Amino acid sequence: MPTVLDPQLRRALAERMRYYHELGIYDFYRREPQAPERSAVAIEAVESPATQPELREEMSPRKSAAVAAVAEENIFAVPKPEQSVSDPVAALKLIRQDLGDCTRCKLHKQGRKQIVFGVGNPKAELMFVGEGPGADEDAQGEPFVGRAGQLLNNMIKAMGIQREQVYIANVVKCRPPGNRTPERDECDTCSPFLMRQIAVIKPKVVVALGAVAAKNLLAINAPMSELRGRFYDFMPSGARSSDPSWQGARLAVTYHPAFLLRDPRQKGEAWKDLQMVMKYLGLTPPQKSE
Ligand code: SF4
Repeated sequence: MPTVLDPQLRRALAERMRYYHELGIYDFYRREPQAPERSAVAIEAVESPATQPELREEMSPRKSAAVAAVAEENIFAVPKPEQSVSDPVAALKLIRQDLGDCTRCKLHKQGRKQIVFGVGNPKAELMFVGEGPGADEDAQGEPFVGRAGQLLNNMIKAMGIQREQVYIANVVKCRPPGNRTPERDECDTCSPFLMRQIAVIKPKVVVALGAVAAKNLLAINAPMSELRGRFYDFMPSGARSSDPSWQGARLAVTYHPAFLLRDPRQKGEAWKDLQMVMKYLGLTPPQKSE
């Protein structure tokens, strides 16, 4: 039997949900009854930064997109704006509009010049996700345009495709000051927009560039040596119930190009990761001309 909520409670919940929508949060879950300490109205905003403990190292399993909690039920199926359109170009525009001149996390007031939303083919089969914009990206408004971006372009070319064929984005869309690692609360606040981008693009493969991207996408706290070398089944949070036509992506982890610039000896390892992706996508390296 469905529970009929008290009208006053329903109004209060509606108000709270409006507040979360303004933050860009759309997915709400209620735990199964085996959590007795939670009341029937213990509604949690899965992506709410306010509900997340400040844990720098440990990733909460509840945050995992890939390891979506099976015992949770989406009780408020509020459509995201982009779900009203089928064209991914229009859908990405709606996500960008929803992001607006974002001030949701503290990175907005720490010297960013502009928001770096993402770039590339809205129907890409392959998507690369990095950590956050650097100085060049902040200046140009496009991810991976500096030296690391040049190396990423070369990696993409070596796979037999062009940069324009893939989609590139970051976990956080504003430059952390001094290129520091984005902090947990910043990633938690910004990553729902990345998840929505992935859900619209529906790539076959997502490549996480570096540990920060991998840990935020997978919520697995492990060293790169353990994260690399295999595929993960990946479904961005919120996409599962909204699109039965897409069963999610495979996710691979490789080194961030900035790390490869610092330690070129690891390029061979990164190439192995990309070859695994190429094999899955049926890509072949370009023929070398004599
Ligand atoms: S990093 Fe993301 S959440 Fe934070 S201000 Fe920029 S766009 Fe908003």
